[in-house]
This record gives sequence, C-alpha cells and structure tokens, in this order.
Amino acid sequence: MNLVLLGPPGAGKGTQATSIAEKYHIPHISTGDIFRKNVKEGTPLGKKAKEYMDKGELVPDDLTIDLVNDRLVQDDCKNGFLLDGFPRTEYQAEKFDAFLAKNGMELTKVIDIDVAEDILLDRMIGRRVCRACGKPYHVTNMPPKVEGVCDVCGGEVYQRADDTEETVKNRFKVYKEQTSPLIAYYEKAGNIAHIDGAGALDTVFAAIVDAIGA
Ligand code: AMP
Repeated sequence: MNLVLLGPPGAGKGTQATSIAEKYHIPHISTGDIFRKNVKEGTPLGKKAKEYMDKGELVPDDLTIDLVNDRLVQDDCKNGFLLDGFPRTEYQAEKFDAFLAKNGMELTKVIDIDVAEDILLDRMIGRRVCRACGKPYHVTNMPPKVEGVCDVCGGEVYQRADDTEETVKNRFKVYKEQTSPLIAYYEKAGNIAHIDGAGALDTVFAAIVDAIGA
C-alpha cells in the first residue's frame, strides 16, 4: 500500500501518519523529519536545508526528490510506504510519478486532509514535538503527561523553530502557491480522497481508514 498525505501545515498529517503507519504496517516517511534530523546532525544536507526551513520556504526540489528516491528503495518499503510532506510541488509530483513508473509501483491513494486556516494557525503555534522520536503534541489539546517530556520515549518535547507566527504565515502562503495545486493534479489522476481534518483525532482517523478501504 503506497500512500501520500497531503494538506496544509498543521492539518494533523504527522499525528494521523503515526496511526496509519501502525495500522497498515508501513513506514512513515516524513521529509520534514528527515530534514530536521540532518539539521540536528549538522550534515551538508542539513546545513543547506536549514536556510530554507527557518524561513518557511521549501527546500529545493532536486535535493528533496533525491532524498525521497533513496529512501523508497530501502527494504522496509517493499510492502508499501506512507509519505508525509512529499510531494509538495508539481515538479516533485511529476518526478515522483516517474520514479513509481520506473520501479513498477503505483500510488494507492492520496489523502488530502483539509482544515480551515484560522484553526490551523492556533494548532501550529501551540504545536510541540518530541525531539527524539517526532511524536507530536499540543500545549492545550494534547499535552504530554509531564511537561516537556515525551510520553513514548522520554525525549525532550520542544517547539519547532518554524512554528513561530511569522514563519507559520509564510508556510501557509507557500502551501497555497506551491502545494495546493497538487489537489487538482491528483484529482485528474483520480486517486485522491478528501478528508475533513477539523474533527477529533479518532474521527479523522476513521474517515481516513474508510477512504483507504482496506
Ligand atoms: P514539515 O515538517 O513537513 O512541515 O516540513 C518542514 C519544512 O521542511 C518545510 O517547511 C520545508 O522547508 C521542508 N520540507 C519538507 N518537505 C519538503 C518537500 N517535499 N519539499 C521541499 N521542502 C520540504
């Protein structure tokens, strides 16, 4: 099962991705998480990516595409994968389609999680995440049991540098201009499901499972 999660920043892709990956036994591949890991480790890719991430801009397409292609040929993707945060431009989507065709793979479903912008802003500014395992939290809606400590792995729960108000606003702009045209792109391909992401986590997850139909 090969899945893509689409949706504006803060729509809950990361949270839902954890549950989807667990249910269908497929790896959750978040390009944002991979970039953040590289930033933390100070790799050449991380140094390059940081320049864009801190401003809420997209990392250049070719860097991103190479990184995803390398990841998808690894053994744990043999039975499928869940991409979270990729593709994010039409160019990435076209290159991704070419990669799938070359490797005899097909996209099972694109899941588009949609939430109104005012709700998203609150979610993102209140968003926290575990530095070690990536588990997402929210200061009021979903805080960790002990402040600043991850429930799952005990790692540090922190606010991402790109979750500040100014950067968040730019990330929305970037989403609208560069990523939202992908909805029409996959509409044309006929394999997209639209999910209302405003409800409770369980309700949203149930709608996703229903749309996957397996
Ligand atoms: P995310 O955690 O998915 O919100 O991603 C955080 C940041 O990583 C984005 O704001 C971009 O700077 C970068 N990024 C993640 N995925 C991509 C992608 N597919 N293309 C370009 N930049 C990306």
